[in-house]
Amino acid sequence: VSTPPRAGRSVGIDLGGTSVKLGALDLEGAPIDSLSFPTELDRGPADLARRMAEAARALGVEGSLGLAAPGLLERGRGVVTASPNLAPIEGFPLRDELARLLGFDPRRVRFENDANAAAVGEHCAGAARGEHSFAMATLGTGVGGGILLEDRLVIGEGGLAGELGHVVIDPRGPRCGCGGRGCLEQYASASAAARRAREAGLEPDPVRLTALARGGAGPERDLLSAIGRDLGRGLAPLVTLIDLRCFVIGGGFGAAFELLLPGLVEGLLERTFGRRPGDFRLYPATLGGDAGWIGAARLGRQTLSVI
Ligand SMILES: [Zn+2]
Repeated sequence: VSTPPRAGRSVGIDLGGTSVKLGALDLEGAPIDSLSFPTELDRGPADLARRMAEAARALGVEGSLGLAAPGLLERGRGVVTASPNLAPIEGFPLRDELARLLGFDPRRVRFENDANAAAVGEHCAGAARGEHSFAMATLGTGVGGGILLEDRLVIGEGGLAGELGHVVIDPRGPRCGCGGRGCLEQYASASAAARRAREAGLEPDPVRLTALARGGAGPERDLLSAIGRDLGRGLAPLVTLIDLRCFVIGGGFGAAFELLLPGLVEGLLERTFGRRPGDFRLYPATLGGDAGWIGAARLGRQTLSVI
């Protein structure tokens, strides 16, 4: 049995608050290998960087490396500046430490927000393959977002593009963690679904709520449809502003896709004009928890042509 060639393997790392997922892409960009380990932030940022470097080496990292993390990042310095789930590593020079441990030029380590990386993953290997422009909304604890235009990730001048979760649906709505009111993530995240279900006297666990809604018509199905409508309202500005037609819905609560879909179309049509239902291409994400590392690895590869 021959060992597959490892030269040029790109590795992507998706750093989450509870687990670190990483994997390798072959020279053609196809996912070939992956692994995960618990984040264990209490062991400190230097120890985390060491374990990440070890795992990347085990995957045969050679060509390039991409690192995705949740929260606000400073790409230039390779630092997580604010992240509720990764508070112990805020300010730590994670990218440079990782590069040092692996003997890489830090410029070969691409540092990106996890939702952006997930959108890139779905674009190169998942639901949005073949699409040139689309937005992905990740429905989890919050609502993450990533936008690709003409095959390029949109980062924006300050690096904050694609924060779909904080598009305001209703300025008199519930308070949001960002300090605003009525943001999309207060309506369509998994946590918002649980809150809305509780308020309506329904099963608050999003997985069980979705299962009940799948069982037939009733208040659970109506609630998921209402959540889908709010999601559509939140995505509608992208249609109005840049005529986006394709949307991918991912994250844990994205598993309710087919139940969210009728409302999603309604919400999009309600807040745009001149569009018909058939104008939109709406897909459930297909890579699940692998989208982040696949996208990070893909973005890492792009650094090879820059340096
Ligand atoms: Zn907000």
